[in-house]
Amino acid sequence: MISRAVLASVLAAGALTAGTPLRLPAQLPTRTVDVPILMYHLVGRVPRFADGPYTRGLTVAPQLFADEMEWLSRNGFHAITQLQLLGALEYGKPLPSRPVMITFDDGYRDVLYYAAPVLRRLHMPATAYVITDRVMGHDPSFLDWGGLRALEHDGFTIGSHTVHHVDLTLLTRKDAWHELFDSRRILSRGLGRPVDWFAYPAGRENPKVVRLVRDAGYLLAVTTRPGVVQSARHPFLLRRDEILGSLGIASFAALLHSSG
Ligand SMILES: [Zn+2]
Repeated sequence: MISRAVLASVLAAGALTAGTPLRLPAQLPTRTVDVPILMYHLVGRVPRFADGPYTRGLTVAPQLFADEMEWLSRNGFHAITQLQLLGALEYGKPLPSRPVMITFDDGYRDVLYYAAPVLRRLHMPATAYVITDRVMGHDPSFLDWGGLRALEHDGFTIGSHTVHHVDLTLLTRKDAWHELFDSRRILSRGLGRPVDWFAYPAGRENPKVVRLVRDAGYLLAVTTRPGVVQSARHPFLLRRDEILGSLGIASFAALLHSSG
């Protein structure tokens, strides 16, 4: 007879085998793992529509971004995928030394032009959380389906950032559900694979929204709560550090050193 422990490990392994749908363990473990998750928005030139300091602040110049990624690489950091984080957090799988997850919010096209070539050269995977209404819209500032496939080709994982980039905590339950479920379905159909990863617009979440994220079938979700200690009990409240264009390489290094 197969022991409960063996059965649990077989089920855990099966849950992370390519081709089978991924899932969270029925009982979330109490484990924590230290993984800095870096949040970027634009990498490129400040866009024409950036009339406010906010978008300017979120824009990282291509050379600075390259310097930051090269700093990570030189200092022994290993960029990991969503799947690796899920495996380590929920199933105790090993991670490479000094793991870091690199993420981009909003789906700006310049990520493909300026960030992806650097990441490809350094063999660093990353995640882009995209807004499906913009993927299917006509604003050339944002990635379309072809852009998303090109990012996937460069080692990116695509996650959802809702349909309309709205504050989910202000919506009715039904409207929030549509933002979460519809964006996941649209991306899964468009890319031909499940999309199990989510980022809250503006980091806005509450217990009701977190439950809806889980019910919509996501497996991991990132917030804008700073910090690097990720808890297996809270896969929908992953912590992230925002990397602003004004940070500079010295502060970037200090942030990563203090975290690991
Ligand atoms: Zn956003």
